[in-house]
Amino acid sequence: THFGFEQVAESEKAGRVRGVFSSVAQKYDVMNDLMSAGMHRLWKRFTVELANVRPGERVLDVAGGTADLSLAFAERAGRSGQVWLTDINHSMLSVGRDRTINKGFLLPVAQCDAEKLPFPDNHFDLVTVAFGLRNMTHKDVALAEMRRVLRPGGRLLVLEFSHIWKPLSKAYDVYSFKVLPWLGKKVANDSASYQYLAESIRMHPDQPTLAGMLRAAGLDRVEYFNLAAGAVALHRGYKL
Ligand code: SAM
Repeated sequence: THFGFEQVAESEKAGRVRGVFSSVAQKYDVMNDLMSAGMHRLWKRFTVELANVRPGERVLDVAGGTADLSLAFAERAGRSGQVWLTDINHSMLSVGRDRTINKGFLLPVAQCDAEKLPFPDNHFDLVTVAFGLRNMTHKDVALAEMRRVLRPGGRLLVLEFSHIWKPLSKAYDVYSFKVLPWLGKKVANDSASYQYLAESIRMHPDQPTLAGMLRAAGLDRVEYFNLAAGAVALHRGYKL
């Protein structure tokens, strides 16, 4: 069955996204490893390196889900720092919160929409969103919110699926639309969510377009780094 995500009205998108992540939360980590052949760990490691969090810094992980990035940041920010794990989805957030506690961290956690962040202006040294922006209904609003809560000089990192190097795109399509839903069915008994994943990836803006969106949201010195031949890109911008 076809998820038909392209056709759904904008107002329905949030509800669909909620359904997808409530349904995949328990299997989310193992599916990430399977689908990316473990590569998502490298992409996140690269993000953590580039983020270069120093002791005492304040960090906001938007759409933080199962807390991979939050945990890495918490180790670096130390006791004098502050790392917020946030997500709109309660199921994802509970998996993330349990993981942080099991690893010996007690991070502040908030269930909130990236389009309406419950934080004051000019508060964070670093804001990150990994594989989350794609799911947001009004990306421009979300990006403006992330900029608002950054302090002047602070940086925003956006890790997201992007547009793969052209010669590989046919093979990647087969992988996304045939292999992914099949894996989703086998492992999580949920092919629709993984069909959604493939469609949301294909519809997401390419590297230069997203860079333009960061600039339009008021971020400066915007640049991006391609990972896995552009299948994933890390964008960075500063609030100056
Ligand atoms: N950052 C984690 C990672 O890299 O593994 C989780 C990424 S997961 C693919 C996407 C997350 O975005 C989900 O947990 C979902 O609930 C969250 N999300 C979707 N729309 C959101 C919104 N408007 N505000 C905040 N989080 C949102």
